[in-house]
Amino acid sequence: MPAPQSRRRIGVMGGTFDPIHNGHLVAASEVAAAFNLDEVLFVPTGDSWQKGATTDAEHRYAMVVIATESNPLFRASRIDVERVGPTYTVDTLRELRATKPETDLFFITGTDAMATIDTWKDVDELWQLAHFVVVTRPGHSLDLPAAPAGAISVVEIPALEISSTAIRERVRAGRPLWYLLPDGVVSYIAKNELYQPEGGHK
Ligand code: NAP
Repeated sequence: MPAPQSRRRIGVMGGTFDPIHNGHLVAASEVAAAFNLDEVLFVPTGDSWQKGATTDAEHRYAMVVIATESNPLFRASRIDVERVGPTYTVDTLRELRATKPETDLFFITGTDAMATIDTWKDVDELWQLAHFVVVTRPGHSLDLPAAPAGAISVVEIPALEISSTAIRERVRAGRPLWYLLPDGVVSYIAKNELYQPEGGHK
């Protein structure tokens, strides 16, 4: 029988989530299984300073709550929404380390985000705070940044060609969203008139 894990293993899925979609959820689910995680925290950004205008953080957070509700391993976190100022991953991970000392953190990221990590605040400290797991499509090559040995793992996930940008464009074009994101999030977008061409509530 395998020895019981002594420390909790927590996945951290950071994102702008504008909106959250099934690609994010599949990625987190696959990494949770591959790394035997006890929990995955979905952490919507407060201020995605590198992305320009985004939908109000409370709407993005609400969609994350709806999307994560049905999976017992998934939880939504407000730590980045509540921190004032630009969202930096090093602050997210420092805060989680401080509040959850007896845990191992696994930061889950896609290839685009990983490709820019050299420019993130205090990148050298990031590698000390969490193990980084990059999700990639089967067969895709990936240039990993310079990092300490063993700091980054790569997990191949089923290719899901879904992006938040494409979903916002679909809303503007009046095309269906069903099955690209959880039903509750589809309803939330419609009810709150998010991503409308003009005059829609942001
Ligand atoms: P996002 O667009 O909402 O995406 C969230 C994550 O999901 C990304 O890693 C993204 O990978 C991945 N993803 C998107 N579509 C996917 C799909 N179909 N299948 C699998 N994975 C998919 O969020 P973001 O704006 O890139 O931000 C990601 C995190 O990086 C946030 O926590 C943010 O705070 C952090 N960040 C930190 C700094 C800093 O500290 N200086 C700077 C920039 C970002 P891709 O990136 O490959 O799309």
